[in-house]
Amino acid sequence: MVMEIAPGINQVKVPIPDNPLGFLNCYLVAGKDGWLMVDTGWHTQEALNALEAGLHQLGLVFTDIETIVVTHVHADHFGLAGKLKQLSPQTKLLTHRWEWALIESRYIKFAELQTQIGALLHKHGVPDSDIPALKSASMPVLEFVTITMPDEPLYGGEIISTGVYDLEVFWTPGHSPGHICLYEPQNQLLFAGDHILPKITASVGFHVQSGDNPLGDYLYALQKLENLPVTQVLPAHEHVFSDLRGRIQEILRHHDRRKEEMRRLIEEQPRAAYEIASRVAWDVPLIWEQFPSQHRRSAVTETIAHLEYMRREGTVTRIKSGDQFLYKANIAIPLP
Ligand SMILES: [Zn+2]
Repeated sequence: MVMEIAPGINQVKVPIPDNPLGFLNCYLVAGKDGWLMVDTGWHTQEALNALEAGLHQLGLVFTDIETIVVTHVHADHFGLAGKLKQLSPQTKLLTHRWEWALIESRYIKFAELQTQIGALLHKHGVPDSDIPALKSASMPVLEFVTITMPDEPLYGGEIISTGVYDLEVFWTPGHSPGHICLYEPQNQLLFAGDHILPKITASVGFHVQSGDNPLGDYLYALQKLENLPVTQVLPAHEHVFSDLRGRIQEILRHHDRRKEEMRRLIEEQPRAAYEIASRVAWDVPLIWEQFPSQHRRSAVTETIAHLEYMRREGTVTRIKSGDQFLYKANIAIPLP
């Protein structure tokens, strides 16, 4: 249940029931006066029990957690934070400023955000009949989040010291606008959140809260980490791995292939992002019509992210057609 990564640095697997990811990897780092937790899992009794059992194995209880850092506020990372704060009111919660800013709109007053997402999906060609399901596709996670507000914001560049270990904050937007990674230099460990996972690639979608070029932000944030001396990468899902540089290269190639695949689809004629998304060979063994709405929505927002990235590269043009956007590949003019 508990895996020791380095002296005083441990991984606890917290189950995410009925989810293909299976587990959230929660990390516990020893401190002088208390422990630091990285990511919490989402709030179910099963997850809470697993966390409690993990702490127990280390001889700890919830009140021994001095600080919780969440890499981003997606439900599987942040969901249990509110419950943990109820059980241990002294514990401080830290997250990036831009993640803090999302909590209210995502988990408290979400009607407005859903309307904006619906409008965005319409603009990108999602059929009206499909919009209600797609815009509310992330609603089921609400029941797994116990809301709390952070105690202090992070911006990137800080050193969070536990008194035993110093963790440097790297701002790594893309998967979420305020996603952070933590670097521990003594053991050369990178707490990677969802930014870099060993097998699956993090979803990077264009969203009303993502900024105008989330894929550009993401790729730049990969570069920030590329030359760090890292012996072990500690991701929030799947397994610990060592070849950070190799994995970054693989992820870069993945996005290059995706861009090229999408560009080809609009060489002959302009198409809306929804139509392009329906023709991409996603790594899901289902035909487009059978994609669950959550997957269909990520497919569309990931497609927009790639198209908007290519617009900034100058390889794709966006055309306004009525109240919708179409994209067309630019033909390279051969040099004389
Ligand atoms: Zn996430």
